[in-house]
Amino acid sequence: MQTPLPDYLANVIEACDIDNSGHLADYIPELANANPNRLALAMSTVDGEIYSVGDDDVEFTIQSISKPFVYAYVLQQLGIDAVLTKVGVEPSGEAFNEISLGKDGRPKNPMINSGAITVHSLIQVKHGLHSAEILRRFMSELAGRELSFDESVYDSEVKTAYRNLSIGYMLRTVGILETDPVDIVNGYIRQCAIMVTVKDLVRMGSVLANGGVDPRTGKRLLNRSVVRQVLSVMMSCGMYDAAGDWLSTVGIPAKSGVAGGILGVLPGQVSIAAFSPRLDEHGHSVRGIDILERLSRDMGLHLMEGTPSAQTIVQSHYRTGKDASLSVYVLRGVLKFTEAEMLLRILQDETTDQSTIVIDLTQISLIHDVGKRMFLEGVDRLIDDGHTLVLVDPEQRLDHARTGKDRELHVYHDFDDLLEKHDLPAKKKTYSDIAALLNC
Ligand code: GLN
Repeated sequence: MQTPLPDYLANVIEACDIDNSGHLADYIPELANANPNRLALAMSTVDGEIYSVGDDDVEFTIQSISKPFVYAYVLQQLGIDAVLTKVGVEPSGEAFNEISLGKDGRPKNPMINSGAITVHSLIQVKHGLHSAEILRRFMSELAGRELSFDESVYDSEVKTAYRNLSIGYMLRTVGILETDPVDIVNGYIRQCAIMVTVKDLVRMGSVLANGGVDPRTGKRLLNRSVVRQVLSVMMSCGMYDAAGDWLSTVGIPAKSGVAGGILGVLPGQVSIAAFSPRLDEHGHSVRGIDILERLSRDMGLHLMEGTPSAQTIVQSHYRTGKDASLSVYVLRGVLKFTEAEMLLRILQDETTDQSTIVIDLTQISLIHDVGKRMFLEGVDRLIDDGHTLVLVDPEQRLDHARTGKDRELHVYHDFDDLLEKHDLPAKKKTYSDIAALLNC
């Protein structure tokens, strides 16, 4: 069997191929020479599988899709608070190249040019490397291959960068830029001239979708808090003056570029990139938008659809032992806020006595931080009520269990570990079998 995913993606681009509306970006002369018929689509799952169709090996300049990655780089280096003093996070409702500032004197957000130029100015030059070279290396690490600059697009944009230069001078006038605006604007234009394919973009995006860890190498490249900040700003500001429309129709944090690329990142699920050079009036790829709208609709990827809780956490509960004094809970699924609340509500019915409670987490696939905190609080309270707690936690995900109550709290990796630590015969296979031996 071959997974139907590539066929599905091929169908999507085929359906979008007929639309020839929109225009090439011509304010950067070299982009006006692009082949307008190019069309590509790629998707990366959060565990790093990449599917791609169409012109998926064709390189194009990343343009404004560099902005969220440069923002991530600078946040990672300087911390969120320091960056916020220079650039805000409010949607501007304006075009990407608007010459404007927020009322507080900062560029409104890092996705429009004024914000992105400011973010570029915050790169701390190291080892004598140019800021754009630092970014090329950073993005190459995210993409898992050596990326390069399109020198002709860079030259062509630098020669005609009147608007970005006027933004740069405006920022220098108000003191947001602290050094020569020409150097900074040139560095920003060079960051936009890094060449990528849709496969590179989804690979870069998968690090964001995966909370900052490269799913292919397992290496953490960005802090979770940085990723959350970047994706929030992509959601509210990534599509400029079309952001509200995009949120309601597609509902995926995204960023577009005037070479025709568009990258969407759905946290915890997928990253999607499309490439087609003809643009709409906002500077977004016409067919790229169509593609993302279709994928969001067909595959239920809208962020606001959320992931409903499985509405189950206790797979089974039984009492066993003498006078049914051993109470066993076998948990299953994911332990997040909703499930932890449900579990605590169920545990509320445990009577206040000296009984032993076994909670078996062997089949819990993920424990979210809030789930862990709530669970441990519940454990503490059960101990306060006089219970002895036995936790079976194979991956020791509850290693921060509170101290001070050690006498009443016993944590085991698994059932065998429990048998071994109590010197119980290995042939005992269930909690009912061992209840008597545990003095229950
Ligand atoms: N380099 C382009 C510019 O600054 C990027 C704009 C874009 O992709 N929206 O004008």
